[in-house]
Amino acid sequence: MPFGNTHNKLKMKYSAEQEYPDLSQHNNHMAKVLTAEMYANLRDKETPSGFTLDDVIQTGVDNPGHPFIMTVGCVAGDEETYEVFKDLMDPVIEDRHGGYKPSDKHKTDLNSENLQGGDDLDPNYVLSSRVRTGRSIRGFCLPPHCSRGERRAIENLSIESLDILDGDLKGKYYALKNMTDEEQQQLIDDHFLFDKPVSPLLLASGMARDWPDGRGIWHNDNKTFLVWVNEEDHLRVISMQKGGNMREVFTRFCTGLTKIEALFKERGHEFMWNEHLGYVLTCPSNLGTGLRAGVHVKLPNLSKHEKFGEILKRLRLQKRGTGGVDTAAVGGVFDISNADRLGFSEVELVQMVVDGINLLVDMEKRLEAGESIDDMVPEQK
Ligand code: ADP
Ligand code: MG
Repeated sequence: MPFGNTHNKLKMKYSAEQEYPDLSQHNNHMAKVLTAEMYANLRDKETPSGFTLDDVIQTGVDNPGHPFIMTVGCVAGDEETYEVFKDLMDPVIEDRHGGYKPSDKHKTDLNSENLQGGDDLDPNYVLSSRVRTGRSIRGFCLPPHCSRGERRAIENLSIESLDILDGDLKGKYYALKNMTDEEQQQLIDDHFLFDKPVSPLLLASGMARDWPDGRGIWHNDNKTFLVWVNEEDHLRVISMQKGGNMREVFTRFCTGLTKIEALFKERGHEFMWNEHLGYVLTCPSNLGTGLRAGVHVKLPNLSKHEKFGEILKRLRLQKRGTGGVDTAAVGGVFDISNADRLGFSEVELVQMVVDGINLLVDMEKRLEAGESIDDMVPEQK
């Protein structure tokens, strides 16, 4: 398993040119931004916890591209990474988040009352609805860099806080290391649990170290509210259910998330957040809201249409396979979600998904009836 060479002090005997990675075959945001000069300026810097430039970029060096999405190619090891390496991070963020500038301020809106509609996505097409985000606990290193002790402390804090949730949200924590292989696979197959650490993106960033130590899933009794502990982020908070009631899913998401934040605060722990970046997470693609609202939706006709990619882009939506980010779609069923995380509030992003999915389903019905969708192709949002 790859890991950083942070501790190799001998590398400073070589010039920046001799150490600069070969990015000639690469297509990710980091590779587009990182020049030899920038590498030279940043390579001897480190954050207070000791995260270096080589640690930031390793995942993007080892993964030139991805078959389905444009990856970011770098990660944060702690909250300070975004500040210490801002010469690299700012342009990556600007590139990934549609021109988001270092002076821009992020907005948060977790009031689900502000969402218009969203309770009636057509269940003949929309199989399930889901909203997730990540949260990081201030004062601890992030998964690419955290120690075993830090990781276990986060697990303990999470169990302590989550155990207090009651009513609909009452649930239980299941540590990965106490599960049988079959139990784990069943949760993965049912789309409740993160994949095993097979993704090269995860492996190369160092996030899979010590697996499965400190990792687990907490969920309520009917598995509609779930928290992943110590996967790509300290916490991933998820609300999901079968069918097309995105409004109900988002409402539960907002209630649960707000309660969790309060429970952590009561124990003296706040989430990493600032006015500019919003919620600070491991992957720069998840800054801001960290929110991905998505549905599993049947689009066998539309997905074969030559304008499918362009339509998604104009609606600011992204497609994945239903087995997660590393899978391709099968049988015309896709995971369609918001492409943005930063520069829009939570409510605005969910609204984009609700409105976009309604349109996509209407288009699918037209194509099913053998009719044209030319008059329905939307303008760029
Ligand atoms: P994330 O962005 O949450 O990390 P991934 O693409 O890695 O998402 O997928 C994680 C898991 O969540 C996968 O098992 C995937 O099938 C499941 N999932 C994602 N969206 C939905 C949805 N709308 N309905 C059901 N399961 C979903
Ligand atoms: Mg994932």
